Amino acid sequence: MKKTLGSIFILLTLSSQALVRVTAQSTSDAGDIIVPKNTKWLAEVDVTKVPKTPVRPVGSGTCPDAKCDGSDNDKCFESCGNKALPSDIYGCPSAQEWALSFDDGPSNFTGQLLDSLDQYNIKATFCVMGSNVKKYPEMVKRAFDAGHHIASHTFSHPHLMSLTNEEIIYEMKATEEAIRDVIGIRPTYVRPPFGEADDRVKALMKAMGYKILLWNVDPTDYDVHSLPNAADKIQGAFKAAANGIDTGLNSHDEPGYISLQHDLYKSSIEQVPDVIEFLTKKGYTFRTAAECVGDKTPHAPFVPEGRLMAQSNPSGQNKEEVSSSTPKDQSSISSIPELKDASVENDNKSTTTKVESSDTSSSSTTSAAAIITHSSVNMAILLFVLLSFIS
Ligand SMILES: [Zn+2]
Repeated sequence: MKKTLGSIFILLTLSSQALVRVTAQSTSDAGDIIVPKNTKWLAEVDVTKVPKTPVRPVGSGTCPDAKCDGSDNDKCFESCGNKALPSDIYGCPSAQEWALSFDDGPSNFTGQLLDSLDQYNIKATFCVMGSNVKKYPEMVKRAFDAGHHIASHTFSHPHLMSLTNEEIIYEMKATEEAIRDVIGIRPTYVRPPFGEADDRVKALMKAMGYKILLWNVDPTDYDVHSLPNAADKIQGAFKAAANGIDTGLNSHDEPGYISLQHDLYKSSIEQVPDVIEFLTKKGYTFRTAAECVGDKTPHAPFVPEGRLMAQSNPSGQNKEEVSSSTPKDQSSISSIPELKDASVENDNKSTTTKVESSDTSSSSTTSAAAIITHSSVNMAILLFVLLSFIS
């Protein structure tokens, strides 16, 4: 009888835990995009080394009289950009190397962009939004299969410094999940939306295995894409940088470039062939952002960092990819607009095997369904035991 009562107690405990987990999973609005939230994700991130810098509301970093010489960056981050850390990636460290990067997609125009890149056999970096990965999964798969570098650009494109640690983790993990569902890997580069990331945000990203990818050429396609002279404006920014004119964005003074465009704008994507031809004539070789910093593993298996050791298999497969190697010291200033990133190697494809076991996080819906099923089974067993006990 003691044994039976003990079993009942254990079953009740398991059932109640499962129910709590179901109710803890919810979604919330981030603008008009609903960011999936799974409380399990919070336990996967060690925040003990993340500075307790206060959350900074949007607009709190705008300074009309900012000096923008670096000294004001910390308080005027929306005017001057964030203070560059040595590990931040702004440009390519080798002269004559150029990484094209595209943010905010995928979109209706990503296919056209991939066609252009295929035509010149050039690999680029795509900083994708998790919400758009869900809308255009075939574009992400095509880009990845073609050997492009897939990086995170968060799920809903928020001002990260205005979010709590938990909200940032949800943005990143929801994006990881969206990418994992399509191509089975976890990105290891993140481009913070608007280039906004202070020490807290960067430390949190690092704790999640990410490298911070910024840019040192910005044609401001988000401002000029609808202008009649958009083509000249966008191409002009590339030509100016290639001709040695200071872009004002190169905090680390790298001689090579990482440019920022958005595959949201047709007029920007349409400039890519001309840009490639011009830069090729200038002697530039195209790399993904990861390639240009010497990183051969820009994608990792989808195994939460904290669970790697517990889940490593005897054969040792996939273990090497999970480490989040720190990129070579390169950084730069951050600029006001958005992100860009580096591309990846084809050899990633051999490391994209899903290694997630059935109990690791999956989509919120799937997780919730699994937990509910688990709970139902527990309840059925409990009823069976109770009936047996009574009879
Ligand atoms: Zn963006």
